[in-house]
Amino acid sequence: MNAPRTARDRMVEDLRSAGIRDERVLEAMARVPRERFVPESFRGRAYRPQRIPLGLGQTMSMPWTVARLAELLEAPPGARVLEIGTGSGYQAAVLAEMGLRVFSLERHARLAREAARRLRELGYLSVTVKHFDGTFGWAAEGPWAGIVSTAAGPRVPETLVTQLAPGGRLVLPVEDEEGGQRLVVVTRLPGGGAREEDAGPASFVPLVGRYGWSPRRGGKGREA
Ligand code: SAH
Repeated sequence: MNAPRTARDRMVEDLRSAGIRDERVLEAMARVPRERFVPESFRGRAYRPQRIPLGLGQTMSMPWTVARLAELLEAPPGARVLEIGTGSGYQAAVLAEMGLRVFSLERHARLAREAARRLRELGYLSVTVKHFDGTFGWAAEGPWAGIVSTAAGPRVPETLVTQLAPGGRLVLPVEDEEGGQRLVVVTRLPGGGAREEDAGPASFVPLVGRYGWSPRRGGKGREA
């Protein structure tokens, strides 16, 4: 007899129907207990196709977005990847379940502390969280096979592109001319230089930092 289908199984099936093809991503998301990453009052809604507030004006992306970012990274198992915007730690856990060694930066001390504790309690020992402005990247631990930002900036920070290993990919939402957001994938070419591709529309909280939006303005369509 088959085990009963859980909300998590249904979420994974919906991701598959919605075009997520990478089996490593789908398998990882079938294993991570998303309900453990959401605030208590959202436990019953953890697997719905929606973003979830984390406090401090931040949100955890909806499952499809988490899957899409993980898929676009195209990082081979065992690769070292950098996440900018730890938030709840859920995206980092998904990347860890894919066999990646994850370093994650979060600008809010409280979110960084809570995510680090949660990840440790759940046994995600291949994730290292640090309270720091992610727009600087993390050069000492690089170069990176992949960098993913879960917050949207005014432009692609050059600091991050230079920390990619040859062939490495940076997945980052940026604001477009109309005030909307697009997901951009920058690949560092082995011979030097970089190639930039558009990966569709996006909706993320602002990337606030030295090479992002200014904290005063909070990123509502104006540059730092
Ligand atoms: N990946 C998270 C999503 C969190 S939302 C999750 O799975 O829950 C994006 C996060 O980016 C927020 O927590 C926000 O505080 C953080 N952030 C914004 N600008 C940042 C910066 N410059 N450096 C590090 N974190 C940043």
